[in-house]
Amino acid sequence: MSDYRIGILQGDDIGLEIVPVAVSVLQAAISKYPDVAIDWVDLPVGMPSYRRSGETLPQQTLDTLYTLDGWILGPIGHMVYPKDDPKAVNPHPIIRRNYDLVSNIRPTRSYPSIPSLHQDVDLVIVRENNEGFQPDRNMFTGKAEFMPTPDMALSLRVITRRNSGFVARTGFELARQRDNKKKVTAIHKNTVFKLGCGLFVEACAEVAGEYPDITFETRVVDTFAMNLVMHPQDFDVIVSTNMFGDILTDEAAGLVGGLGMAPGLNVGPKYAMAQATHGSAPDIAGRHIANPYAMIVSAQMLLLWLGEKKQDQAAIRAAQDIEAGITEVLSRMETVTPDLQGSASTEEMGEAVCRAILAV
Ligand code: ATP
Repeated sequence: MSDYRIGILQGDDIGLEIVPVAVSVLQAAISKYPDVAIDWVDLPVGMPSYRRSGETLPQQTLDTLYTLDGWILGPIGHMVYPKDDPKAVNPHPIIRRNYDLVSNIRPTRSYPSIPSLHQDVDLVIVRENNEGFQPDRNMFTGKAEFMPTPDMALSLRVITRRNSGFVARTGFELARQRDNKKKVTAIHKNTVFKLGCGLFVEACAEVAGEYPDITFETRVVDTFAMNLVMHPQDFDVIVSTNMFGDILTDEAAGLVGGLGMAPGLNVGPKYAMAQATHGSAPDIAGRHIANPYAMIVSAQMLLLWLGEKKQDQAAIRAAQDIEAGITEVLSRMETVTPDLQGSASTEEMGEAVCRAILAV
């Protein structure tokens, strides 16, 4: 019997709609496997938390996260948090850094039924999460962005062998598991950033030596960006530093139907956090039309990661059932949200996925 403690942090705006749907999908999937149980732990975060307690990330939430196996974080709409209140913090950088969530795994997959620029796309970008140009988290103290004069801004980019190697290892492990090209492509610009990108590529090459069964190649970011648009089918797993990865993952999402189709999992040595790539979409919040796909698949990736960590075949099968269920719903296109040209609500699409899972 495996019992997982998973946190639910709904976040803001459409998070209140898509996170409960993702939870109900996981619950439906494990209901078929009596040996798997999830102990769900609701934790306050974001504006709903701020309205209740005056804090967007209460200490109780931070303390509890250390006791969990993993958690689901809904999208965060921090741009509208009160600017003058130090308790209205953006939870992202704090959570990703506190729990050492080094690798951000973002898959991109095309479905024949969904209008997209390309078909047969099945790739994953693994992006470093806490370094690069992220000024709010890449320093021990202080911010890595400052203005010596009103007319000059400086941003410091941090690259370490430790995090680069961790991202590479995440990528090689994925390439080994995936039934695809068994290839890892490291993205860089070491022609210019000789030390920063140079160190990243060197760390990736070191890890590549431990995976002789996986092809390793490197690509310069600018030509890679073009190749990704023209020939996305050439790639399998892509590993990248922070900013290049952030840009390339949105570009990849654009190839297969947009942000509603862009899931993500943040992983570190100990914890994992499911988090869709898209934001909190305040323009459609409260209308129950948000596409829950990215949040469902993010939660599915969390269950798979937990199952593999504990070598729990039942949890792994439950995660595979979710993938089969969502593929079924997307192949029929009868119960999908308006962004996919359907008329179903967020909840109706979630219920269709649950029914498909139970029928697998
Ligand atoms: P952030 O900077 O926080 O990532 P953003 O500025 O990229 O956010 P989003 O909140 O991701 O913006 O929204 C961008 C557009 O995509 C909006 O028009 C939004 O309605 C749409 N969108 C985002 N997520 C979804 C979703 N799950 N379903 C449908 N539409 C979505």
